[in-house]
Amino acid sequence: MEKSAKKRIYLSSPTMHGDEQRFVAEAFDTNWVAPLGPNVNNFETEIAAYTGCGYAAALSAGTAAIHLGLKLLGVEQGDVVFVSSLTFSASCNPIVYEKATPVLIDSEPDTWNMSPEALERAFEKYPAPKAVVVVHLYGTPAKMDEIMRICERHNVPVLEDAAESLGATYGGKQTGTFGRVGVYSFNGNKIITTSGGGMLVSADEALVKEARMLSTQARDPARHYQHSKIGYNYRMSNVDAGIGRGQLMHLDEHIRLKKAIYQQYRQAFADIEEISMNPLNAAGDANNWLSCMTIREGSSVTPDMVMDALDAQNIESRPIWKPMHLQPVFASYDFFGHNESGVSVSEDIFNRGVCLPSDIKNTAEDMDTVIGIVRGLFRK
Ligand SMILES: *Cc1c(COP(=O)(O)O)cnc(C)c1O
Repeated sequence: MEKSAKKRIYLSSPTMHGDEQRFVAEAFDTNWVAPLGPNVNNFETEIAAYTGCGYAAALSAGTAAIHLGLKLLGVEQGDVVFVSSLTFSASCNPIVYEKATPVLIDSEPDTWNMSPEALERAFEKYPAPKAVVVVHLYGTPAKMDEIMRICERHNVPVLEDAAESLGATYGGKQTGTFGRVGVYSFNGNKIITTSGGGMLVSADEALVKEARMLSTQARDPARHYQHSKIGYNYRMSNVDAGIGRGQLMHLDEHIRLKKAIYQQYRQAFADIEEISMNPLNAAGDANNWLSCMTIREGSSVTPDMVMDALDAQNIESRPIWKPMHLQPVFASYDFFGHNESGVSVSEDIFNRGVCLPSDIKNTAEDMDTVIGIVRGLFRK
């Protein structure tokens, strides 16, 4: 069959259920088609109830939430901010929006997230960063006990980039609720979506109120337009929040399906020594947003061969995030590796990894197709 004629198998695309439309219709029927309204308020309350974060501000994107989070933590020009290197660029860009200096921290091999050892070394050189941005990559929680202990000892606030990990827990507590500020994303490819959107969360109500104020052009309380701060147009629309409310009703179901995908890959590749699945964290419970594999060093099969073979059958896959310290735009910033020398852990994962189709609409037949193609490459 021709490539174009085959049904596309996706990495992670939106899955709608119908409940979304009910809330969106309500927004239209009541004429609440604006960056405020009952869906926005209710979506915030519902996220707060689900995660136990305390308070939540619904914003136009996860990136906007990271940006406002940094501002709320007082990040300014010239400040140093530590950030996970193995992540999407949106974890890092807002640091530069504020003309602050990102310092990139390597991953550890156990969870692929921020290495506490590398973090310690970064503190030796930079004792007073303004904030630490910790990412829970692909929905696997980072080593939060170790990371929080180090940051508390140095009295530096943590901003948790939980864009990929909504619903994942660590020690029974939701990711995004450990730091002074947490961030979720509802971009189209995330575990639930509002088409595009994000949420800033915190246990500190004043902080979240400030986020809402800054996200709506920073108006002071007055009849006329009065401003004493620079504002942003970052609020979530009431229509998008309606999609989010419908999606949130199905978050647990999405997580269940994502976990099943991961387990199926793991079992299917268990007898191939050259393949490992992305690590989970025994102290936590991942949401398994994306299932990823790494290929053992020295294998004749490369990640490109896997991606090419899948692509030839109209199946979407993609490389692991290319670490920020290897990106042209961030290459000049300082980087702290997990190991004292040699290839960094994050670069090694990037070199050997592939994100596999993790779409919850994929059928058993789709999964068999993907698994068959990958297995075929490793047949001697
Ligand atoms: C998706 C993502 C973001 C950005 O979220 P948007 O809602 O797309 O702005 C930030 N960090 C990570 C790790 C992400 O995966």
